[in-house]
Amino acid sequence: MNNVEHQEMILDGIGVSPGICIGKAYLVELDGLDIVEKYRIRTSLVPVEIKRFKQAVKKAKDELRAIIENTPDAVRKHADILETHVILLKDKMLYGKIIETIETEHINSEWALKKVASSLKAMFMSMSDPYLKERALDIVHVSDKILHHLVGADQVNIASIDKRVILVAPDLSPAQTSQIQLERVKGFITDQGGSASHTSIIARSLGIPAVSGLECATRSVCNDDLMIVDGISGLVIIHPSEQTLLSYEERRIQYEAQMSLLNRQSHLDAVTLDGHRFFVMGNIELPEEIVSVLDRGGDGVGLYRTEFQYLGRPDFPCEEELFEKYKDVVEVMSPRPVTIRTLDINGDKALEHPSGGVEDNPALGLRAIRYCLKHLPVFKTQLRAILRAAAYGNVRVLFPMISGFEEIQEAKNLLNTVSEELLQEGTPHNRNVEIGIMIEVPSAVILADVMADAVDFFSIGTNDLIQFSLAIDRGNRDVAYLYSPLHPAILRLLKQTVDAAHAKGKKVFMCGEMAGDPVHLPMLIGLGIQEFSMTPHAIPLAKRTIRSLNLAESCGFVSNILKEKTTKAVMERVQRHFTMSDTEISTGRA
Ligand code: PEP
Ligand code: MG
Repeated sequence: MNNVEHQEMILDGIGVSPGICIGKAYLVELDGLDIVEKYRIRTSLVPVEIKRFKQAVKKAKDELRAIIENTPDAVRKHADILETHVILLKDKMLYGKIIETIETEHINSEWALKKVASSLKAMFMSMSDPYLKERALDIVHVSDKILHHLVGADQVNIASIDKRVILVAPDLSPAQTSQIQLERVKGFITDQGGSASHTSIIARSLGIPAVSGLECATRSVCNDDLMIVDGISGLVIIHPSEQTLLSYEERRIQYEAQMSLLNRQSHLDAVTLDGHRFFVMGNIELPEEIVSVLDRGGDGVGLYRTEFQYLGRPDFPCEEELFEKYKDVVEVMSPRPVTIRTLDINGDKALEHPSGGVEDNPALGLRAIRYCLKHLPVFKTQLRAILRAAAYGNVRVLFPMISGFEEIQEAKNLLNTVSEELLQEGTPHNRNVEIGIMIEVPSAVILADVMADAVDFFSIGTNDLIQFSLAIDRGNRDVAYLYSPLHPAILRLLKQTVDAAHAKGKKVFMCGEMAGDPVHLPMLIGLGIQEFSMTPHAIPLAKRTIRSLNLAESCGFVSNILKEKTTKAVMERVQRHFTMSDTEISTGRA
């Protein structure tokens, strides 16, 4: 390694989960490449296998082309190397030989690639010319790239990491992030992603620092490089100097001390200065997270994202398995409410079960309630498990992605059918559960007055509501700058929802990420939202913020803010208003 590689380097991204960690890098991208297996291909399927290989090469080429196009002039030299790699991808010695090997030996593409690449690498390594010797490395890089596309990033097994590391990845899927073991992974950084992606949400609920949207992290970091991840400011420092290390170590200790002070006060109720009680609940993805909700003074579970029990497995969980999990959560939280959201599958949380072709627009596709109403046995199994668990505590049922009134009718009818069946069978259950819908599709806001007739509560899902109303992919870093909960249109949608619900005497909660950022709370309580649900780590600060607010004053503040025309103007007002003493504990959200 030369000196340049050891110089301190700062990367600027989006802080998606607050906190600071210092540790060694672990490149996720390279990890899947060790798990290549050899298997035979039937003669009739050889052409299909060759097609699969060619597709992987094409993807690798497209990826390299995109990297080259986005390489700034200052590092053009790097792009020249990549140009060589593009040529090498189709080189006869590599590409041609691999196809020939699949054809003659009837073996899978991964194995053929490994075989051909190893012999080419050995050949170049044995050459005396240092230039040619170096070409061995290019072979490794190029074949790694193809292999990555053949194997698929989703097969990387994060759960098997056995050292304390910081993950560095092009992107992490929600399924991969939920495999993170806290005792091993200190934090992560990714090239892609924004703060509202599910991956970021999971990072916040795990309480590990994370920075996304770095663009070039995987190209700037090598395995075992020392680095600092600052999830508050969104900075990543690679090869930090002694001085930087010391200053960040101090900041880390200070941040953790502030957090533990907040945690100690978290069991006090969230009552405003003028005596109004608000409820601050936890969002959970996995049953184990209820401990975190209780430890941080959560008033209940405002959103249980049940889909994570369905991810990363080839089969569907059975009723008994679901019931046991829900019962555990409900019993431990009782008498506090547990809001169980029915399956919000697909979108960015895709099932592994082959359920038809790949969707072009999964976020707008057969997901959530739409999926459930098309797969009744899957839905009914879950509803039965929920009603059975409801016999053990305080359960609310929440339907996701409702875009029309008939979806509520169908879902409620099904809940009644299931309840009848349980009654006939004599299976203990509780049908007196509150029923709510997520308000996360603009049509649900437009029809909020109608929807309110059919439910007990609304829970506003700002993550999707912002995505759909502002036409911004919540996981796309290129449009992350437009993703703002403080867009005047979003504020109007919130107001419309609350007014429609209150006119019918129905409650309004918020479980999207907007609720977890204390800077928004004066406005949200002023709008009339009664309950907030967030990643458990955000609960203590949210409760303390509410304790420092005055509801009457917040209502006045909201009427002024609703007059603003631009996001910038709203943001400035909101920031100015947020003049609490603890503003230095930032949530890290962009
Ligand atoms: C939301 O959309 O705001 C929400 C809470 O649901 P999810 O993040 O699971 O899509
Ligand atoms: Mg949603």
